[in-house]
Amino acid sequence: MATPSSPLARALAQPECLLLPEQVLLPDGTHSHWAVVVAGGRFKGVGPVAELTREFAALTPLPLPGRLLMPGLIDAHTHLTQSLGKALAFGEPSEIFRRIWVPMETTLRPEAARTSARLAALEALRGGFTTVVDAGTRSEAGLDGVTNATRDAGIRCVLGMICNDAANTDGEAGVRRILDAAASFLSAFEHDPLVHPSLAISIPEAASDRMLHDVARLTQESGRRFQTHVNEHLVAVERSLVARGLRPLEVLHAAGALNDSALLAHATLLTARELGLLRDSGAAVAYNPVASQWKGNAVLDAGLLHMLGVPFGLGTDGTRADGLRLMDAAEATQRIAHGLANGDSSCGAGWLWLDHATHLGARAAGLAQITGRIEAGLAADFLLLDLDVPEFVPSWDLSWELVRFANRDQIEAVFVQGALRLWKGWPLDWDARALMREVATVARRDVARAPIQRVHPPSDAHRAQHGQPAR
Ligand SMILES: [Zn+2]
Repeated sequence: MATPSSPLARALAQPECLLLPEQVLLPDGTHSHWAVVVAGGRFKGVGPVAELTREFAALTPLPLPGRLLMPGLIDAHTHLTQSLGKALAFGEPSEIFRRIWVPMETTLRPEAARTSARLAALEALRGGFTTVVDAGTRSEAGLDGVTNATRDAGIRCVLGMICNDAANTDGEAGVRRILDAAASFLSAFEHDPLVHPSLAISIPEAASDRMLHDVARLTQESGRRFQTHVNEHLVAVERSLVARGLRPLEVLHAAGALNDSALLAHATLLTARELGLLRDSGAAVAYNPVASQWKGNAVLDAGLLHMLGVPFGLGTDGTRADGLRLMDAAEATQRIAHGLANGDSSCGAGWLWLDHATHLGARAAGLAQITGRIEAGLAADFLLLDLDVPEFVPSWDLSWELVRFANRDQIEAVFVQGALRLWKGWPLDWDARALMREVATVARRDVARAPIQRVHPPSDAHRAQHGQPAR
Protein backbone atom coordinates (compact mmCIF):
# COMPACT_ATOMS: atom_id res chain seq x y z
CA MET A 1 0.00 0.00 0.00
CA ALA A 2 1.28 3.50 -0.82
CA THR A 3 2.07 5.53 2.29
CA PRO A 4 -0.77 8.01 2.86
CA SER A 5 0.36 11.63 3.09
CA SER A 6 -2.01 12.52 5.95
CA PRO A 7 -0.60 11.64 9.41
CA LEU A 8 -4.10 10.61 10.54
CA ALA A 9 -4.53 8.29 7.54
CA ARG A 10 -1.10 6.82 8.27
CA ALA A 11 -2.11 6.12 11.87
CA LEU A 12 -5.43 4.59 10.75
CA ALA A 13 -3.67 2.34 8.24
CA GLN A 14 -1.84 0.50 11.04
CA PRO A 15 -2.92 -3.13 11.48
CA GLU A 16 -3.73 -2.55 15.19
CA CYS A 17 -5.48 0.60 16.44
CA LEU A 18 -7.05 1.85 19.64
CA LEU A 19 -9.56 4.44 18.41
CA LEU A 20 -11.19 7.08 20.60
CA PRO A 21 -13.92 8.65 18.45
CA GLU A 22 -16.22 11.34 19.76
CA GLN A 23 -19.21 9.05 19.23
CA VAL A 24 -19.75 5.37 18.45
CA LEU A 25 -22.95 4.06 16.85
CA LEU A 26 -24.08 0.82 18.51
CA PRO A 27 -27.34 -1.09 17.89
CA ASP A 28 -28.96 0.73 20.85
CA GLY A 29 -27.90 4.20 19.67
CA THR A 30 -24.94 6.59 19.83
CA HIS A 31 -22.46 6.57 22.72
CA SER A 32 -19.73 9.01 23.73
CA HIS A 33 -16.59 8.15 25.76
CA TRP A 34 -16.36 4.77 24.06
CA ALA A 35 -13.31 3.21 22.46
CA VAL A 36 -12.81 0.61 19.74
CA VAL A 37 -9.83 -1.68 19.22
CA VAL A 38 -9.20 -3.02 15.70
CA ALA A 39 -6.75 -5.90 15.21
CA GLY A 40 -6.43 -8.77 12.76
CA GLY A 41 -9.31 -7.43 10.64
CA ARG A 42 -11.77 -7.60 13.55
CA PHE A 43 -13.04 -5.53 16.42
CA LYS A 44 -11.00 -6.85 19.32
CA GLY A 45 -12.54 -4.62 21.95
CA VAL A 46 -15.52 -2.24 22.15
CA GLY A 47 -16.26 -0.48 25.43
CA PRO A 48 -15.83 2.55 27.68
CA VAL A 49 -12.57 4.45 27.13
CA ALA A 50 -11.28 3.89 30.67
CA GLU A 51 -11.75 0.14 30.41
CA LEU A 52 -10.18 -0.29 26.98
CA THR A 53 -7.16 1.96 27.57
CA ARG A 54 -6.41 -0.18 30.64
CA GLU A 55 -6.97 -3.50 28.87
CA PHE A 56 -4.96 -2.48 25.76
CA ALA A 57 -2.28 -0.42 27.51
CA ALA A 58 0.34 -1.46 24.92
CA LEU A 59 -1.55 0.42 22.15
CA THR A 60 -1.27 4.18 21.70
CA PRO A 61 -4.78 5.66 21.82
CA LEU A 62 -5.74 7.61 18.69
CA PRO A 63 -8.16 10.43 19.59
CA LEU A 64 -10.74 11.18 16.86
CA PRO A 65 -12.47 14.38 17.98
CA GLY A 66 -15.51 15.42 15.95
CA ARG A 67 -15.87 11.95 14.39
CA LEU A 68 -18.53 9.28 14.55
CA LEU A 69 -17.40 5.67 14.25
CA MET A 70 -20.32 3.73 12.77
CA PRO A 71 -20.88 0.36 11.08
CA GLY A 72 -20.33 0.24 7.34
CA LEU A 73 -23.66 0.29 5.51
CA ILE A 74 -25.13 -2.77 3.79
CA ASP A 75 -26.50 -2.57 0.26
CA ALA A 76 -28.95 -5.48 0.43
CA HIS A 77 -29.57 -5.59 -3.31
CA THR A 78 -27.54 -4.44 -6.28
CA HIS A 79 -26.15 -5.39 -9.70
CA LEU A 80 -22.44 -4.67 -9.96
CA THR A 81 -22.19 -5.34 -13.69
CA GLN A 82 -24.78 -2.70 -14.58
CA SER A 83 -22.64 0.30 -13.63
CA LEU A 84 -21.78 1.14 -17.25
CA GLY A 85 -25.48 1.81 -17.95
CA LYS A 86 -26.26 4.44 -15.32
CA ALA A 87 -28.49 7.23 -16.77
CA LEU A 88 -29.43 5.10 -19.78
CA ALA A 89 -32.32 3.84 -17.62
CA PHE A 90 -33.56 7.27 -16.54
CA GLY A 91 -37.12 8.10 -17.47
CA GLU A 92 -37.74 4.54 -18.63
CA PRO A 93 -40.93 2.66 -17.77
CA SER A 94 -40.78 -0.59 -15.79
CA GLU A 95 -38.95 -3.82 -16.66
CA ILE A 96 -35.81 -2.06 -17.83
CA PHE A 97 -33.98 -5.35 -17.25
CA ARG A 98 -35.54 -6.64 -20.48
CA ARG A 99 -34.70 -3.64 -22.66
CA ILE A 100 -31.47 -2.33 -21.11
CA TRP A 101 -29.76 -4.51 -18.49
CA VAL A 102 -29.93 -7.96 -20.09
CA PRO A 103 -28.84 -6.68 -23.56
CA MET A 104 -26.03 -4.66 -21.97
CA GLU A 105 -24.75 -7.30 -19.52
CA THR A 106 -24.78 -10.10 -22.07
CA THR A 107 -22.69 -7.93 -24.45
CA LEU A 108 -19.94 -7.20 -21.93
CA ARG A 109 -16.57 -8.80 -22.62
CA PRO A 110 -14.83 -10.38 -19.59
CA GLU A 111 -12.60 -7.39 -18.89
CA ALA A 112 -15.57 -5.04 -19.27
CA ALA A 113 -17.53 -7.02 -16.67
CA ARG A 114 -14.61 -6.72 -14.28
CA THR A 115 -14.18 -3.00 -14.98
CA SER A 116 -17.90 -2.44 -14.43
CA ALA A 117 -17.90 -4.34 -11.14
CA ARG A 118 -14.80 -2.52 -9.95
CA LEU A 119 -16.37 0.85 -10.73
CA ALA A 120 -19.53 -0.22 -8.87
CA ALA A 121 -17.46 -1.42 -5.89
CA LEU A 122 -15.60 1.90 -5.77
CA GLU A 123 -18.83 3.88 -5.91
CA ALA A 124 -20.32 1.70 -3.17
CA LEU A 125 -17.34 2.27 -0.86
CA ARG A 126 -17.52 6.02 -1.54
CA GLY A 127 -21.19 5.88 -0.57
CA GLY A 128 -20.41 4.25 2.78
CA PHE A 129 -21.27 0.67 1.84
CA THR A 130 -18.82 -1.91 3.14
CA THR A 131 -21.04 -4.81 2.00
CA VAL A 132 -22.94 -5.22 -1.25
CA VAL A 133 -25.34 -8.02 -2.12
CA ASP A 134 -25.05 -8.73 -5.84
CA ALA A 135 -28.15 -10.38 -7.28
CA GLY A 136 -26.25 -12.17 -10.03
CA THR A 137 -24.91 -11.03 -13.34
CA ARG A 138 -26.17 -11.98 -16.78
CA SER A 139 -22.67 -11.49 -18.17
CA GLU A 140 -21.14 -14.91 -18.94
CA ALA A 141 -17.79 -13.88 -17.53
CA GLY A 142 -19.38 -11.66 -14.90
CA LEU A 143 -19.06 -14.00 -11.95
CA ASP A 144 -15.26 -14.09 -12.15
CA GLY A 145 -15.22 -10.39 -12.96
CA VAL A 146 -17.24 -9.52 -9.87
CA THR A 147 -15.15 -11.83 -7.67
CA ASN A 148 -11.91 -10.23 -8.84
CA ALA A 149 -13.29 -6.69 -8.68
CA THR A 150 -14.53 -7.30 -5.15
CA ARG A 151 -11.06 -8.38 -4.09
CA ASP A 152 -9.36 -5.54 -6.01
CA ALA A 153 -11.53 -2.90 -4.36
CA GLY A 154 -11.64 -4.68 -0.99
CA ILE A 155 -15.41 -4.59 -0.47
CA ARG A 156 -17.44 -7.38 1.14
CA CYS A 157 -19.80 -9.02 -1.34
CA VAL A 158 -22.63 -11.53 -1.14
CA LEU A 159 -22.29 -12.83 -4.67
CA GLY A 160 -25.22 -14.43 -6.43
CA MET A 161 -24.73 -17.09 -9.09
CA ILE A 162 -27.69 -17.19 -11.47
CA CYS A 163 -29.37 -20.62 -11.79
CA ASN A 164 -32.16 -19.85 -14.30
CA ASP A 165 -33.25 -22.96 -16.25
CA ALA A 166 -36.26 -21.68 -18.25
CA ALA A 167 -34.17 -21.91 -21.43
CA ASN A 168 -32.86 -25.40 -20.63
CA THR A 169 -33.36 -27.71 -23.63
CA ASP A 170 -31.33 -30.59 -22.22
CA GLY A 171 -33.84 -32.03 -19.74
CA GLU A 172 -32.55 -33.63 -16.56
CA ALA A 173 -28.91 -33.40 -17.70
CA GLY A 174 -29.26 -29.62 -18.08
CA VAL A 175 -30.83 -29.26 -14.65
CA ARG A 176 -28.06 -31.40 -13.09
CA ARG A 177 -25.34 -29.27 -14.71
CA ILE A 178 -26.78 -26.09 -13.20
CA LEU A 179 -27.23 -27.64 -9.74
CA ASP A 180 -23.73 -29.18 -9.75
CA ALA A 181 -22.21 -25.83 -10.75
CA ALA A 182 -24.23 -24.16 -7.95
CA ALA A 183 -23.00 -26.64 -5.35
CA SER A 184 -19.36 -26.21 -6.48
CA PHE A 185 -19.75 -22.42 -6.36
CA LEU A 186 -21.04 -22.57 -2.78
CA SER A 187 -18.19 -24.79 -1.62
CA ALA A 188 -15.46 -22.90 -3.53
CA PHE A 189 -16.11 -19.75 -1.48
CA GLU A 190 -16.99 -21.46 1.79
CA HIS A 191 -14.12 -19.85 3.75
CA ASP A 192 -13.52 -16.70 1.70
CA PRO A 193 -13.13 -13.64 3.96
CA LEU A 194 -14.83 -11.17 1.58
CA VAL A 195 -16.87 -13.13 -0.99
CA HIS A 196 -19.94 -14.86 0.44
CA PRO A 197 -21.54 -17.16 -2.14
CA SER A 198 -25.26 -17.06 -2.85
CA LEU A 199 -27.58 -18.53 -5.50
CA ALA A 200 -30.01 -16.50 -7.57
CA ILE A 201 -32.92 -16.90 -9.95
CA SER A 202 -33.62 -13.61 -11.71
CA ILE A 203 -37.42 -13.82 -11.33
CA PRO A 204 -39.50 -16.91 -10.45
CA GLU A 205 -40.71 -17.29 -14.06
CA ALA A 206 -37.07 -17.71 -15.18
CA ALA A 207 -36.89 -21.17 -13.60
CA SER A 208 -38.81 -24.43 -13.32
CA ASP A 209 -40.50 -25.35 -10.03
CA ARG A 210 -37.89 -28.06 -9.62
CA MET A 211 -35.02 -25.57 -9.98
CA LEU A 212 -36.66 -23.06 -7.61
CA HIS A 213 -37.13 -25.80 -5.03
CA ASP A 214 -33.64 -27.29 -5.31
CA VAL A 215 -31.84 -23.94 -5.30
CA ALA A 216 -33.72 -22.79 -2.18
CA ARG A 217 -32.94 -26.14 -0.52
CA LEU A 218 -29.22 -25.86 -1.37
CA THR A 219 -28.97 -22.36 0.11
CA GLN A 220 -30.93 -23.32 3.21
CA GLU A 221 -28.73 -26.36 3.83
CA SER A 222 -25.55 -24.34 3.39
CA GLY A 223 -26.69 -21.29 5.37
CA ARG A 224 -26.49 -19.03 2.29
CA ARG A 225 -28.94 -16.70 0.58
CA PHE A 226 -31.29 -17.54 -2.29
CA GLN A 227 -31.93 -14.30 -4.17
CA THR A 228 -34.75 -13.46 -6.52
CA HIS A 229 -36.85 -10.46 -7.60
CA VAL A 230 -40.58 -10.72 -6.84
CA ASN A 231 -43.75 -8.67 -7.28
CA GLU A 232 -42.00 -5.50 -8.42
CA HIS A 233 -44.01 -4.56 -11.48
CA LEU A 234 -47.69 -4.93 -12.41
CA VAL A 235 -46.76 -6.44 -15.76
CA ALA A 236 -44.69 -9.20 -14.08
CA VAL A 237 -47.47 -10.01 -11.61
CA GLU A 238 -49.99 -10.24 -14.44
CA ARG A 239 -47.68 -12.32 -16.63
CA SER A 240 -47.25 -14.78 -13.76
CA LEU A 241 -51.02 -14.92 -13.18
CA VAL A 242 -51.68 -15.64 -16.84
CA ALA A 243 -48.93 -18.29 -17.15
CA ARG A 244 -49.22 -20.00 -13.79
CA GLY A 245 -52.46 -18.87 -12.16
CA LEU A 246 -50.31 -17.59 -9.28
CA ARG A 247 -48.57 -14.35 -8.37
CA PRO A 248 -44.71 -14.50 -8.28
CA LEU A 249 -44.40 -14.86 -4.51
CA GLU A 250 -47.14 -17.52 -4.56
CA VAL A 251 -45.14 -19.39 -7.24
CA LEU A 252 -42.16 -19.55 -4.85
CA HIS A 253 -44.41 -20.83 -2.07
CA ALA A 254 -46.05 -23.45 -4.30
CA ALA A 255 -42.62 -24.69 -5.46
CA GLY A 256 -41.40 -25.04 -1.86
CA ALA A 257 -38.82 -22.30 -2.51
CA LEU A 258 -40.03 -19.75 0.04
CA ASN A 259 -37.87 -20.48 3.07
CA ASP A 260 -35.71 -18.56 5.53
CA SER A 261 -32.74 -18.55 3.13
CA ALA A 262 -34.65 -16.39 0.64
CA LEU A 263 -33.80 -12.72 0.10
CA LEU A 264 -36.54 -11.20 -2.04
CA ALA A 265 -35.85 -7.97 -3.89
CA HIS A 266 -38.68 -5.41 -4.03
CA ALA A 267 -41.80 -7.39 -2.91
CA THR A 268 -43.71 -4.13 -3.39
CA LEU A 269 -46.99 -5.52 -4.75
CA LEU A 270 -48.09 -7.99 -2.06
CA THR A 271 -51.61 -9.14 -1.26
CA ALA A 272 -52.62 -9.88 2.34
CA ARG A 273 -52.19 -13.60 1.60
CA GLU A 274 -48.67 -13.05 0.27
CA LEU A 275 -47.77 -10.96 3.32
CA GLY A 276 -48.86 -13.89 5.47
CA LEU A 277 -46.82 -16.38 3.43
CA LEU A 278 -43.82 -14.07 3.64
CA ARG A 279 -44.09 -13.64 7.41
CA ASP A 280 -44.50 -17.39 8.03
CA SER A 281 -41.56 -18.31 5.78
CA GLY A 282 -38.85 -16.32 7.59
CA ALA A 283 -37.68 -14.97 4.21
CA ALA A 284 -35.99 -11.55 4.10
CA VAL A 285 -36.70 -8.61 1.79
CA ALA A 286 -34.59 -5.88 0.16
CA TYR A 287 -36.49 -2.57 0.30
CA ASN A 288 -35.28 -0.54 -2.70
CA PRO A 289 -36.80 2.95 -2.34
CA VAL A 290 -34.87 4.62 -5.17
CA ALA A 291 -35.90 1.83 -7.55
CA SER A 292 -39.51 2.59 -6.59
CA GLN A 293 -38.93 6.31 -7.19
CA TRP A 294 -37.27 5.86 -10.57
CA LYS A 295 -39.18 3.03 -12.23
CA GLY A 296 -41.46 1.28 -9.79
CA ASN A 297 -45.18 0.63 -9.66
CA ALA A 298 -45.42 0.69 -5.87
CA VAL A 299 -43.59 1.26 -2.58
CA LEU A 300 -43.02 -1.49 -0.06
CA ASP A 301 -44.79 -0.84 3.26
CA ALA A 302 -41.63 -1.02 5.37
CA GLY A 303 -43.42 -0.10 8.60
CA LEU A 304 -45.81 -3.01 8.14
CA LEU A 305 -42.94 -5.41 7.40
CA HIS A 306 -41.10 -4.20 10.50
CA MET A 307 -44.24 -4.73 12.60
CA LEU A 308 -44.71 -8.25 11.17
CA GLY A 309 -41.09 -9.10 11.99
CA VAL A 310 -40.11 -9.71 8.36
CA PRO A 311 -36.32 -9.11 8.15
CA PHE A 312 -35.41 -6.45 5.62
CA GLY A 313 -32.43 -4.44 4.48
CA LEU A 314 -32.13 -1.39 2.22
CA GLY A 315 -30.99 -1.92 -1.36
CA THR A 316 -29.89 0.38 -4.16
CA ASP A 317 -30.80 -2.04 -6.98
CA GLY A 318 -27.92 -0.39 -8.83
CA THR A 319 -29.59 3.02 -8.88
CA ARG A 320 -27.27 5.26 -6.85
CA ALA A 321 -24.52 3.85 -4.67
CA ASP A 322 -24.87 6.31 -1.81
CA GLY A 323 -25.80 4.72 1.51
CA LEU A 324 -26.60 7.99 3.27
CA ARG A 325 -28.93 9.17 0.52
CA LEU A 326 -30.43 5.66 0.49
CA MET A 327 -31.48 6.02 4.14
CA ASP A 328 -32.93 9.44 3.35
CA ALA A 329 -34.80 7.97 0.36
CA ALA A 330 -36.08 5.06 2.47
CA GLU A 331 -37.54 7.45 5.02
CA ALA A 332 -38.87 10.03 2.54
CA THR A 333 -40.48 7.36 0.35
CA GLN A 334 -42.27 5.82 3.35
CA ARG A 335 -43.53 9.21 4.46
CA ILE A 336 -44.88 10.09 1.02
CA ALA A 337 -46.34 6.66 0.21
CA HIS A 338 -47.77 5.81 3.63
CA GLY A 339 -47.16 8.46 6.32
CA LEU A 340 -48.89 11.31 4.48
CA ALA A 341 -52.03 9.25 3.96
CA ASN A 342 -52.41 8.18 7.59
CA GLY A 343 -50.97 11.19 9.42
CA ASP A 344 -47.79 9.42 10.56
CA SER A 345 -45.15 12.15 10.68
CA SER A 346 -42.26 10.00 11.91
CA CYS A 347 -42.73 6.59 10.15
CA GLY A 348 -40.63 5.05 12.92
CA ALA A 349 -37.81 7.59 13.22
CA GLY A 350 -34.13 7.91 12.34
CA TRP A 351 -33.21 4.73 14.22
CA LEU A 352 -35.46 2.59 12.01
CA TRP A 353 -33.47 3.40 8.86
CA LEU A 354 -30.09 3.25 10.59
CA ASP A 355 -30.93 -0.23 11.94
CA HIS A 356 -32.09 -1.56 8.58
CA ALA A 357 -29.06 -0.05 6.82
CA THR A 358 -26.63 -1.66 9.29
CA HIS A 359 -27.24 -4.66 11.58
CA LEU A 360 -30.71 -5.58 10.29
CA GLY A 361 -29.43 -5.19 6.73
CA ALA A 362 -26.60 -7.59 7.60
CA ARG A 363 -29.20 -10.04 8.93
CA ALA A 364 -31.20 -9.78 5.68
CA ALA A 365 -27.96 -10.42 3.76
CA GLY A 366 -27.29 -13.53 5.87
CA LEU A 367 -24.22 -11.92 7.49
CA ALA A 368 -25.51 -11.15 11.01
CA GLN A 369 -22.63 -13.10 12.57
CA ILE A 370 -20.02 -11.36 10.42
CA THR A 371 -20.78 -7.64 10.02
CA GLY A 372 -23.29 -4.81 10.59
CA ARG A 373 -22.43 -3.96 14.22
CA ILE A 374 -19.55 -2.44 16.14
CA GLU A 375 -19.05 -5.44 18.37
CA ALA A 376 -16.03 -7.41 19.59
CA GLY A 377 -15.42 -10.46 17.40
CA LEU A 378 -17.14 -9.11 14.29
CA ALA A 379 -15.32 -8.00 11.13
CA ALA A 380 -14.02 -4.45 11.41
CA ASP A 381 -16.24 -3.01 8.66
CA PHE A 382 -16.79 0.62 9.64
CA LEU A 383 -16.84 4.29 8.70
CA LEU A 384 -15.45 7.44 10.26
CA LEU A 385 -17.81 10.35 9.69
CA ASP A 386 -16.90 13.99 10.18
CA LEU A 387 -19.52 15.47 12.51
CA ASP A 388 -17.85 18.87 12.64
CA VAL A 389 -19.92 20.35 9.79
CA PRO A 390 -22.52 23.15 9.85
CA GLU A 391 -25.40 20.72 9.14
CA PHE A 392 -24.74 18.82 12.37
CA VAL A 393 -24.47 21.88 14.65
CA PRO A 394 -26.28 22.10 16.99
CA SER A 395 -26.86 18.38 17.25
CA TRP A 396 -30.09 17.38 18.97
CA ASP A 397 -30.69 13.89 17.64
CA LEU A 398 -27.77 12.27 15.87
CA SER A 399 -29.79 9.30 14.55
CA TRP A 400 -32.28 11.55 12.77
CA GLU A 401 -29.50 13.87 11.60
CA LEU A 402 -27.64 10.94 9.99
CA VAL A 403 -30.75 10.02 8.01
CA ARG A 404 -31.84 13.50 6.95
CA PHE A 405 -28.65 15.62 6.86
CA ALA A 406 -25.65 13.37 6.31
CA ASN A 407 -23.66 13.67 3.11
CA ARG A 408 -21.13 11.36 1.42
CA ASP A 409 -18.47 14.09 1.74
CA GLN A 410 -18.54 13.57 5.50
CA ILE A 411 -17.21 10.01 5.14
CA GLU A 412 -13.55 10.48 5.99
CA ALA A 413 -12.49 6.83 6.09
CA VAL A 414 -13.93 3.49 5.02
CA PHE A 415 -12.63 0.25 6.53
CA VAL A 416 -13.44 -3.28 5.42
CA GLN A 417 -12.09 -6.25 7.37
CA GLY A 418 -9.92 -3.81 9.33
CA ALA A 419 -8.21 -2.42 6.20
CA LEU A 420 -8.42 1.28 5.33
CA ARG A 421 -9.96 1.03 1.85
CA LEU A 422 -10.79 4.71 1.22
CA TRP A 423 -9.45 7.91 2.66
CA LYS A 424 -11.56 11.02 1.87
CA GLY A 425 -13.32 9.15 -0.92
CA TRP A 426 -10.31 7.67 -2.71
CA PRO A 427 -8.41 4.38 -2.45
CA LEU A 428 -4.86 4.50 -1.15
CA ASP A 429 -3.52 1.34 -2.77
CA TRP A 430 -4.77 1.53 -6.38
CA ASP A 431 -5.33 4.15 -9.05
CA ALA A 432 -9.04 5.00 -9.20
CA ARG A 433 -8.47 7.78 -11.76
CA ALA A 434 -6.95 5.23 -14.15
CA LEU A 435 -10.03 3.05 -13.67
CA MET A 436 -12.29 5.98 -14.58
CA ARG A 437 -10.35 6.53 -17.83
CA GLU A 438 -10.65 2.81 -18.63
CA VAL A 439 -14.41 2.91 -17.90
CA ALA A 440 -14.94 5.70 -20.42
CA THR A 441 -13.22 3.66 -23.17
CA VAL A 442 -14.88 0.35 -22.31
CA ALA A 443 -18.34 1.91 -22.02
CA ARG A 444 -18.03 3.60 -25.41
CA ARG A 445 -17.08 0.27 -26.97
CA ASP A 446 -19.32 -2.29 -25.20
CA VAL A 447 -22.43 -0.30 -24.36
CA ALA A 448 -22.58 1.15 -27.87
CA ARG A 449 -22.78 -2.32 -29.47
CA ALA A 450 -25.39 -3.69 -27.04
CA PRO A 451 -28.90 -4.07 -28.52
CA ILE A 452 -30.42 -1.69 -25.97
CA GLN A 453 -33.95 -0.46 -26.55
CA ARG A 454 -34.82 2.85 -24.92
CA VAL A 455 -38.35 4.15 -24.81
CA HIS A 456 -37.66 7.54 -23.28
CA PRO A 457 -35.41 9.91 -25.26
CA PRO A 458 -32.38 11.60 -23.62
CA SER A 459 -33.20 14.87 -21.80
CA ASP A 460 -32.19 17.27 -24.57
CA ALA A 461 -34.09 15.32 -27.24
CA HIS A 462 -37.11 15.21 -24.92
CA ARG A 463 -36.92 18.98 -24.41
CA ALA A 464 -36.68 19.54 -28.16
CA GLN A 465 -39.68 17.28 -28.72
CA HIS A 466 -41.88 18.87 -26.06
CA GLY A 467 -40.83 22.48 -26.57
CA GLN A 468 -39.67 25.19 -24.20
CA PRO A 469 -42.01 26.43 -21.46
CA ALA A 470 -43.89 29.68 -22.23
CA ARG A 471 -42.13 32.85 -21.09
ZN1 LIG B 1 -32.52 -5.93 -8.95
